[in-house]
Amino acid sequence: MTLDSPLTDLKGVGDALAAKFAVIGVRTIGELIDYYPRRYEDYSVLTPIAQLQPGAVTISVTIKQAIGRYVRRGMHITEAAASDESGSVRLIWFNQPYRAAALKPGQQYFVSGVFELSHQRFAIMNPSVELASEFPVNTARIVPVYRETKGLTSRQIRTALRQAMPLITSLPETLPTWITKQQKLVSRSEALRAMHFPESADQLAAAKLRLGFEEVFQLSLASLLNKQENQHETALTIDFKEQLAKDFVGHLPFTLTNDQRKVIWQIYLDLQKAEPMNRLVEGDVGSGKTVVATMAALMALEQGYQVALMAPTELLARQHADTIHRLLKPLGKEGQVDLLVGSLTSAQKAKARAAIAAGQAQFIIGTQALIQEQVDMHKLALVIIDEQHRFGVDQRKTLMAKAGHMPHVLSLTATPIPRSLALTLYGELDISVIATKPANRLPIITKITSPNSRPQLYAKIDEQLEAGRQMFVVCPLISESEMLQANSAEKIFEQLSKKDFKHRRVGLLHGKLKPADKQQAMKDLVDHKLDILVSTTVIEVGVDVPNATVLLLEGAERFGLAQAHQLRGRVGRGEHQGYCYLMMGDSAAPTKRMRALESSNDGFRLAELDLELRGPGAIYGTMQHGQLDLRVAKLSDTKLIAAARTAAQKFIDKEEDLLHYSSLASQVARLRAVTNLN
Ligand code: ADP
Ligand code: MG
Repeated sequence: MTLDSPLTDLKGVGDALAAKFAVIGVRTIGELIDYYPRRYEDYSVLTPIAQLQPGAVTISVTIKQAIGRYVRRGMHITEAAASDESGSVRLIWFNQPYRAAALKPGQQYFVSGVFELSHQRFAIMNPSVELASEFPVNTARIVPVYRETKGLTSRQIRTALRQAMPLITSLPETLPTWITKQQKLVSRSEALRAMHFPESADQLAAAKLRLGFEEVFQLSLASLLNKQENQHETALTIDFKEQLAKDFVGHLPFTLTNDQRKVIWQIYLDLQKAEPMNRLVEGDVGSGKTVVATMAALMALEQGYQVALMAPTELLARQHADTIHRLLKPLGKEGQVDLLVGSLTSAQKAKARAAIAAGQAQFIIGTQALIQEQVDMHKLALVIIDEQHRFGVDQRKTLMAKAGHMPHVLSLTATPIPRSLALTLYGELDISVIATKPANRLPIITKITSPNSRPQLYAKIDEQLEAGRQMFVVCPLISESEMLQANSAEKIFEQLSKKDFKHRRVGLLHGKLKPADKQQAMKDLVDHKLDILVSTTVIEVGVDVPNATVLLLEGAERFGLAQAHQLRGRVGRGEHQGYCYLMMGDSAAPTKRMRALESSNDGFRLAELDLELRGPGAIYGTMQHGQLDLRVAKLSDTKLIAAARTAAQKFIDKEEDLLHYSSLASQVARLRAVTNLN
């Protein structure tokens, strides 16, 4: 048996069962071993029957007789009397007619289940039973519970894993010895054994420490290697022209915040180097990242170089094109901005391409599809990536091939992960933080509201609209279905436009609309031809309508913290007070996330809270695809993360050869393809 052996090599796993395993992504023994328990149930303590207390219990017993009968149509009961030296107890199973025949009188069994009252008498209900042995898997231990699927139970998964035990216990070490020693980590084989079949809580903790350390170590190593590689590339150097920067700033309708200044300066220093910049700017929603990006672009344009800006949606790309057009106008550089997105007519596209080819348009704005555009990008010096995290190694390679060199890369994000964590996990990035928002911003007032207070709420909102402000209404998240979301948006639109706000101008925006209609809705909102925009989460990132002051989030309990905070960032962007109403769905109770939103406006603080609420797993909503998600380590475990990061740096400093660690090498290669997110 090897890690690559098919599951059908196991006793009792035929094609039918293997097909069920395939549903959970388990096809080989290796994948089975990699399928960690979701949780554990502690049935490790054996109790004499006479001392049983209500709750989860385990007993070691013989079973006298088991009798099954139908008590009524469709309802079968099996009852058995189990006894040990101290007494006897009833075992009861519902609708498991095979039970009676499976239990052999006189044999010694372990029985684990919940001891509770049933019809005025205590019994153990629906217990797990297995023959007493040295190595029980379903009872009399800390029992692993796995994510199941139809036709595949944890019990079956345990039985399969039990058979893989000899392989697990002989698996080779994957980390360098100096690391396991220094960090006092248990061996990989020991960790995997204990992950599935721990003998104690301590063993389980040690297993998690080891496996968690390893995944963070791999991630850190991948990103550090990416950084090294990037440092060996050459970018176009971009000079800093002080007077130009001054002119630009002098024409802004506001003064830059200190943080904006600081970050721009960091970027200018980077751009003057031949080493490609790879910088992430983290700034809460509304902190003013666009102007920072525009100032970076400015210097490149001045030198006759190209700049590409990629936004996550066309809607945003269009808005950026407008904003940047406006920002560059006083310098007479607005003519260099060109929008290149899929929904342009072919005539418009041809015109844009011609302008780019002729060198008139040097600042190209679009979505990630820009990478695929057939335009000459030999002068591409700077790539700006707004609010997206899927800019991996492949995209970089495509860009490099196109440009003939590595461009400087500037990424902007409003979904910060705490800085220390970002440094650890995304080691290849330099990070700049815009921590403070422009001073004219009033903190958004956020309130949890319930459906029965709608009339009062609507009256209050109407005062805002009367005063000339505008409102976003965002519809509840409904599974993944765009269709359902669109339907729900339409319903709310009907309700508001025909009833509650029929005296106001109400617009609708959702994913199923034609691009032209989406743009029109956005444009109408910006031009104040609408008072209310009912929308799905398509407005989530970046949309900038400073006159909008009210956000009504419907079904707020369904939203993640990061997403809700993003949405809230759509309001309070101008000088007027912003309001965010978290409307609970019918019969929903306020969640911790809603309370956190109510009490804090600080994206960084919320990011930290989100980590605590989430435990292991997704990295603060930044990874749409989950390939970087940690499975064991908690992102809030700063000690472990720092240790793993330090070890990765040491691995590089020691000039260790990755090829000496084949398993590590392949994991790192996989991660390098995705970690280079910016
Ligand atoms: P985000 O960081 O979320 O992308 P934007 O760049 O869209 O934020 O900026 C939000 C709003 O704040 C815009 O209307 C922008 O013009 C304005 N803004 C940016 N910087 C400042 C500043 N220093 N003072 C006042 N307003 C600013
Ligand atoms: Mg933005």
